[in-house]
Amino acid sequence: MAKILVTGGAGYIGSITRYFLEQHGHSVIVADNLSRGHREAVPEKILRVIDLHETDRLTTLLKEEQVEAVIHFAAYIAVGESTQVPELYFSNNVSGSLSLFEAMLSAGVKRLVFSSTAAAYGIPDKVPITEDQTIAPINPYGESKVMTEKILEWLDRYREFRNISLRYFNACGAEPAAGLGELHEPETHLLPLILRAVQTGKPVTVFGTDYPTPDGTCIRDYIHVSDLAEAHVYAVEHLLKGGKSDVFNVGTGHGHSVKEVIAAAEAVTGKKVPQTIGPRREGDPPSLVADSNKLQRALGWRPKRAELEHIVSDAWQFAQKHPHC
Ligand code: UDP
Repeated sequence: MAKILVTGGAGYIGSITRYFLEQHGHSVIVADNLSRGHREAVPEKILRVIDLHETDRLTTLLKEEQVEAVIHFAAYIAVGESTQVPELYFSNNVSGSLSLFEAMLSAGVKRLVFSSTAAAYGIPDKVPITEDQTIAPINPYGESKVMTEKILEWLDRYREFRNISLRYFNACGAEPAAGLGELHEPETHLLPLILRAVQTGKPVTVFGTDYPTPDGTCIRDYIHVSDLAEAHVYAVEHLLKGGKSDVFNVGTGHGHSVKEVIAAAEAVTGKKVPQTIGPRREGDPPSLVADSNKLQRALGWRPKRAELEHIVSDAWQFAQKHPHC
């Protein structure tokens, strides 16, 4: 059992990872500035409202709480917004991360799991994607994560700062046992928008039906947020046992098209999904599917909730408790 600081622990993946860390017997402190997270997603007594740029406060917190490792989620995640205000993404995601790393070095905490992204690959050379493929992000969000990964590589080499970057594919679903799920505002992700369409009757737009895929819609690797959260637990435990720095994809290895996700939502909800067909969204590659064999081999992690129906069903249960009318 270890003392772990979770930055961004009031957000979607951070809050569910906090829950799984506690299930595994770890003691957690959450640092979140609540700019986009939800206060109610964190037990009051472990929440510290603090911004990543407050290096000295972070140093004090790490020392006072005797933190042994950090899992770093706090970041902005909207690709579209990152193309409108790239500076916001470099300030929060890169300079904010660097401030955290400086605080960790000052406090002598040298174990970190970093929330990275499949957006690092841009439009991939081939699918499924392995970690050694070309890194070529096509938007400032992806670039901000790649820049942070680069900083971590150098800190590993010269400061013994052991770290694991997890490159997420499409996180979705909810954790029923914790009552935690996805509550972004504005929401841009496919599955919550599909479920909102069911709840409100306002159609979801399918972004393009002319892709070179079997049904013409984009294919993504949808991973249950609880499987993703568990990957963080495995990664931090690996570092705490003296494991070396590394980079891993986190996905199921199976892709589903937009139309397949809509069909799964209709099967789970028993309702038609109101939908319209729109043009392609800029920057959307036809297919993004993870090869996550490296993670499975190195850490023994497996996705336990990989069926799309399981993911949709947990997301639907959560959406019904947080209705959009
Ligand atoms: N998508 C869509 N309509 C929407 C939102 C998303 O058709 O309102 C498609 C999008 O083009 C992509 C897939 O759903 O192919 C997943 O998009 P999402 O934004 O959820 O995640 P991303 O792949 O961008 O990380």
